Amino acid sequence: MDSQQQHDSNNLPVRVRFAPSPTGVLHLGGLRTALFCWLFARHTGGNLILRIEDTDQKRFDPQSLDDIRRSLQWLGLDWDEGLDVGGAYGPYVQSQRKDLYQKYAEQLIASGHAYRSYMTAEELTAMRAEQKEKGLSQGYDRRDRYLTDEQRAAYEAEGRPSVVRFAVPLEGTTVVNDLLRGDIEVENGSIPDHVLLKSDGMATYHLAVVVDDHLMKISHVMRGQEWLPSAPLHKLIYDALGWEMPVLVHLPVILNPNGKGKMSKRKVVVDGREYPALVHEIIEAGYLPEAMFNFLTNVGWNYDAEQEIFTREEAVARFNIEGINPAPAALPYDKLNWLNGIYIRQLTPEALKERLIPFLADALHLEEETLRTDSRLEVLVPLIQERIKLLTEAASLIDWAFVDADEIVYADPKLLIGRKLDAEQSVHILETGAEIIRDLPSLTSDALESAFRQAAADMDVKIGSFFAPFRGAITGKKVSPPLFESMVALDRDEILRRIENGVALLKEYQSEPA
Ligand code: GLU
Repeated sequence: MDSQQQHDSNNLPVRVRFAPSPTGVLHLGGLRTALFCWLFARHTGGNLILRIEDTDQKRFDPQSLDDIRRSLQWLGLDWDEGLDVGGAYGPYVQSQRKDLYQKYAEQLIASGHAYRSYMTAEELTAMRAEQKEKGLSQGYDRRDRYLTDEQRAAYEAEGRPSVVRFAVPLEGTTVVNDLLRGDIEVENGSIPDHVLLKSDGMATYHLAVVVDDHLMKISHVMRGQEWLPSAPLHKLIYDALGWEMPVLVHLPVILNPNGKGKMSKRKVVVDGREYPALVHEIIEAGYLPEAMFNFLTNVGWNYDAEQEIFTREEAVARFNIEGINPAPAALPYDKLNWLNGIYIRQLTPEALKERLIPFLADALHLEEETLRTDSRLEVLVPLIQERIKLLTEAASLIDWAFVDADEIVYADPKLLIGRKLDAEQSVHILETGAEIIRDLPSLTSDALESAFRQAAADMDVKIGSFFAPFRGAITGKKVSPPLFESMVALDRDEILRRIENGVALLKEYQSEPA
């Protein structure tokens, strides 16, 4: 790449497109492609176009469109033209552009760059079987390319359906340039006469992508490396139509975290821990878009060797094509939870509460609106902010506060017994604490803590052992956010009821035959 080209690529406003096929839900690889397109468009002050490549109607999955929208919006990737937003070069859904593809297919036939092929599916199968038998390489042998006008007329008269195939030049080589990989040269004779238009009149991907990228004035085609082998064919179609091919930037393949093989589109396991690979699963698992943005930006590109955390604005300002490493990249999944924890701690408690509400509503079976005005959440969110790495981890830390005293499940009465104490002593501690709580003029965590510490000292019981019965009685858990600070999320009566239940439980336990 010469320096002029480099300069232009990064500074002129580009037109790039993210062109998913709505054949399934989006996975991280697709989201990374969308992110890099977005970064490049925003860096250059250009445009991102969202085009839906639904030429394969048989594989159309109706839930995928919503999933694509939701995934991009979640990561904060907006698009300037395309699906939903429209624009000057629409429609942006390929199934609505059938007429255009037909027009260009006709043009290619007229100029001798394409031809109709009348072979039926059965004939094609028979042809392959024969090739196999003879030990020949299998594939369409271009036979209808050489039909005479009479033969063609006969097929037409018969009413045979036909497809349009591209007539690949049989001689010479084709060179395509990938901005990251340089020139790639292919023998034309090795390229099959691909179908451009199917018998139902719908274009295939190869024709549609060329026509659309040209008509939509796409300056750079940024897409996954798996499309690189199609590029020489596309170049030949561009040439046949007399059009200039956009600049190609094929993004590096994403590998499994162990560096072996292309990443699974389903589950990813690192050190025995399972990570999601589908965007909707990532959202549901409680990752923050900020963390995912940071994480994915560094997959195949690197913001800075010294600086792990950066803002969207910083990434946009620095993003550059030549910084993309064409070598396959493994997802540093082990970093993801760490990053997520960092971004959780960067939120204000108010913002974290907002992010948590949908997850808590779901886990605790409460209405989002109820939670939004719930004073308990106000108290508890700042207490768990340091303790969670995923939004989904919050519920199990604070669920105890959202049930009635009688609904607390005590898995084991021993949970209410302080270390080196017995049930009787723990009952005594609980009763002492209840008295303190009843008598305190105002129930603040500071007041509670100093009164409890004093009582522990008076009884000559270690602080930890003194606190344990309360933690057990109030939360039903062995671990909780800081005891006094979280206790005051509940009102005095509720705390006292839980302590009473704890006392009753211990008394029952005491009376059980050993
Ligand atoms: N429609 C293709 C896909 O779903 C993208 C091909 C391209 O970007 O040219 O991955």
